Amino acid sequence: MSHKFLFSLAAIAFLAPVMIVAQPAQVRIPKETLAPVLTPWEAAPPRTREANNSAFPPHHVIGNVYFVGTQDYASFLITSPQGQILINPDFDDSVPTIQKSVEQLGFKFQDIKILLISHAHGDHCAGLSRAKELSGAQVMVMDRDADVIEKGGAGRGGFPAVKVNRVLHDRDEVRLGGNTLVAVLTPGHTKGCTTWTLKTQDAGKTYNVVIVGSAGVNDAHYLVNNATYPDVIADYQQTFKVLKSLPCDVFLASHGGFYGLHEKYAKLAQGSNPFIDPAGYKAHVKLMEQAFYYKLDWAIRQ
Ligand SMILES: [Zn+2]
Repeated sequence: MSHKFLFSLAAIAFLAPVMIVAQPAQVRIPKETLAPVLTPWEAAPPRTREANNSAFPPHHVIGNVYFVGTQDYASFLITSPQGQILINPDFDDSVPTIQKSVEQLGFKFQDIKILLISHAHGDHCAGLSRAKELSGAQVMVMDRDADVIEKGGAGRGGFPAVKVNRVLHDRDEVRLGGNTLVAVLTPGHTKGCTTWTLKTQDAGKTYNVVIVGSAGVNDAHYLVNNATYPDVIADYQQTFKVLKSLPCDVFLASHGGFYGLHEKYAKLAQGSNPFIDPAGYKAHVKLMEQAFYYKLDWAIRQ
């Protein structure tokens, strides 16, 4: 199926108000290019990796979920009496910052039993090697990203090769000390991009937590004629469908900017928990979907 055809289907579904020109053989393409949809973090002046990777106050999110990441690279500690799960060790040089955050919250880095990632990009996974060495934890990675993790990534944004102790498949469960995390495959951003879900109890209530892996498009050219990832468009489309289907009370993600970390952290002292944000989750998925179709439209017209 051609990208144009796929895009046309998408356009019909999402751009009903846009002028559509009838084409032969039921292929319909919007007449006008789509108006740019920029996410707030794309519209803002770019920040350096150093700024994004500097320390951010570790904090309790909800139930047994804690934030231990940096200014923008989000890492989460899921605690239990039998040890901890760490999602996203970030860059290699983030690990000492994360370790400090874990200790500041009263936990031990050596008690981390399981290391998980959002996806196989250096800003989330390059620290796996060092974090594994320091904690002795098991590394568990989605099947379609596992080979990349075991080979290691080259160049800028690269990462050292790490042995994967358990290869996960879509909807596999990771259990530790009463916690059950579900590995939901949300591909596109990488082939094995993983959104983590879990239930947690807080003040007698149960909450559905969703940690979005990423539905972002870093480079629009990645979407068309991608020889190493021919199904990338269909995978993104599948991801938006999956993300819309997940029940979400507590909205978290692999980047602080995705879920409004800074703004929400500033509201923590005000009483109600700002991370309980089902509407914010829906708005994020919608924004990412619109940004995806804008970039796809742009790339197809090049
Ligand atoms: Zn990424």
